[in-house]
Amino acid sequence: MVRAVVGANWGDEGKGKITDMLGKEADIIVRFQGGANAGHTIINDYGKFALHTLPSGVFYDHTTSIIGNGVALNIPVLFAEIKSIVERGVPAPKILVSDRAQMVMSYHILFDHLEEERLAGKSFGSTKSGIAPFYSDKYAKIGFQVSELFLDEAALREKIERVILQKNILLEHLYHAPVLQAEDIYQELMDYKKMVEPYLCDVSSYLWKAVKEGKNVLLEGQLGTLKDPDHGIYPMVTSSSTLAAYGAIGAGIAPYEIQQVITVCKAYSSAVGAGAFVSEIFGDEAEELRRRGGDGGEYGATTGRPRRMGWFDCVASKYGCRLQGTTDVAFTVLDVLGYLDEIPVCVGYEIDGEVTTEFPVTCMLEKSKPVYEILPGWKCDIRGIRNYEELPENCRNYVEFIEGQLGFPITMVSNGPGRKDIIFRKKQS
Ligand code: GDP
Repeated sequence: MVRAVVGANWGDEGKGKITDMLGKEADIIVRFQGGANAGHTIINDYGKFALHTLPSGVFYDHTTSIIGNGVALNIPVLFAEIKSIVERGVPAPKILVSDRAQMVMSYHILFDHLEEERLAGKSFGSTKSGIAPFYSDKYAKIGFQVSELFLDEAALREKIERVILQKNILLEHLYHAPVLQAEDIYQELMDYKKMVEPYLCDVSSYLWKAVKEGKNVLLEGQLGTLKDPDHGIYPMVTSSSTLAAYGAIGAGIAPYEIQQVITVCKAYSSAVGAGAFVSEIFGDEAEELRRRGGDGGEYGATTGRPRRMGWFDCVASKYGCRLQGTTDVAFTVLDVLGYLDEIPVCVGYEIDGEVTTEFPVTCMLEKSKPVYEILPGWKCDIRGIRNYEELPENCRNYVEFIEGQLGFPITMVSNGPGRKDIIFRKKQS
């Protein structure tokens, strides 16, 4: 059976924790999109880890972790991450890398920096990991696929010359920066070849057999629906699809094999980077939620940037769940809200005097004002509770109110960052 764990919102919903938890029952965990530009924070028996490229299943010794073809593969980051977890006592994970994955090159990172500098105040808030230049090259058909590392030398050198011709025109005339040397790029590729060779795999064939044998496969998404380039808040989006449907493409499996889509929603909102954020809050109110949020505050796992904070947004989350094809919602970080007397929930957007519950396109989103309903808080610590019925009544009301607004069943409630901090709920009929 194939399951996907994906995000409903802007990312940072707690997907890493849910994947780590569900990894117990998985044989294979696959990253299918994105790169080292976002991170998952995971807390388990080995300690606290911020992963950027490794699938969240690397902490189990029974799972195989796969980097799918849809990923922006940064080979030095991948290897540094493997080394860092092994140094902290985690058994060496079993990792396979798709021979169809493409590699993030040092010049993708360089272009990301140069372009953000050039755009200055109008930048997209990139993490400068090279992701947008990487995916641009992939679709312009000038990227390097892992399989190409095994081309004969003449063919590889010919491609390098062709690629850097374009790059160097931009470097010289747009960015006024030093140009790339073909030999350096060739050496970079040869270094990557040495590192990646032992892990290469024809992943779609491997997964085809695994699914036929009845293995449990978990697809791990990065970021969330609202960062999807088609269905998100374009252009303040990421450069690869964040939807469960893309799991089929980015891993190389049949779409009908994805039987369960677990969409992770956080009990309040947070976002990084620029872009409309209708239920955003500011000042002391935001600072308090940021400080208390997640595990150790809402600061980016990759960049350390303070996240933008807001109340739960039913309009965005309902849309986020719908586009993911949600079968189950995992509702996370509920414990954090225990300090509030009252909790505003955004139930509609007012656009030009009309209220809607449908998530609009970006230009209308910028005009949207939040319509709030205020729910009573529960004013206590709910960590450690394992049965849904034991949650305070106002807390259950909060969960059930949001479930009603979303129209998708909340079957998991997460009330702490650890693996065991989870409350399972039956689907309500
Ligand atoms: P991801 O990218 O979706 O995996 O999310 P992040 O790892 O960036 O952010 C989620 C943060 O919330 C991490 O620091 C997690 O340890 C933490 N977290 C996840 N679930 C819970 C929860 O139920 N309660 C609390 N307090 N923290 C949680």
